[in-house]
Amino acid sequence: MTIHTIYPKPIGLLGGTFDPIHHGHLRLALELYERLDLAEVRLLPSANPPHREAPTASAQLRLDMVQAAIQGVPGLSADDRELRRHQPSYTVDTLLSIREEYPYHPLCLILGMDAFMALSSWYQWERLITLAHLLVVRRIGTLLPEVHRMQEFLNSHQLHHPDELRQQLAGGVWIEEIPALTISATQIRDLIATGRNPRYLLPQTVLNLIHTHQLYR
Ligand code: ATP
Repeated sequence: MTIHTIYPKPIGLLGGTFDPIHHGHLRLALELYERLDLAEVRLLPSANPPHREAPTASAQLRLDMVQAAIQGVPGLSADDRELRRHQPSYTVDTLLSIREEYPYHPLCLILGMDAFMALSSWYQWERLITLAHLLVVRRIGTLLPEVHRMQEFLNSHQLHHPDELRQQLAGGVWIEEIPALTISATQIRDLIATGRNPRYLLPQTVLNLIHTHQLYR
């Protein structure tokens, strides 16, 4: 008989620019929270993303929008640690900082399939799996490419049951298929810039902040 250690429920970590946060992000976070019985999903707006152009809205406003979006929603929280750091926000540093705060919780870094496929280009990517599980989200209907450049990595880390996320603090890859809403922050910024109405793509509280601060015009 194998006896497994059971840790507390895992903490999900969803990083993003959230410029602005929208219902695609929020449904993703809530689906994962409920389906995988997570302790919570923390949304982490990035301060200075090393991988892409500077966001349009300031870091503080992107955090304010995240807070407005999740207010009163059980299971979702905002985490501002990347904004408090003055260096570029590398995921490995974020995970080290969260691991220090939560030594006994499994951590699940949430990644889209595209991000997972490009993982080997990330700063110190091989350390990520030593600090957290990777929770890879595959949008229903999207196919895996036949030659998968992370295949070998996946072969050595893939979990076979979500309960395994609670049996180790880090080290596994779990692929979860979710129905995705085809909403992007780019689409919302473009609608606003061209004078159209992005209503129903994002929470009204976020839209109110966008109007107040005249963002994305
Ligand atoms: P942009 O259009 O500015 O590139 P975005 O809408 O893709 O932004 P990000 O802040 O880059 O938003 O996304 C953060 C995370 O949320 C990423 O892991 C991304 O894969 C995921 N995500 C973004 N949009 C959706 C969506 N509609 N459904 C599910 N996941 C999403």
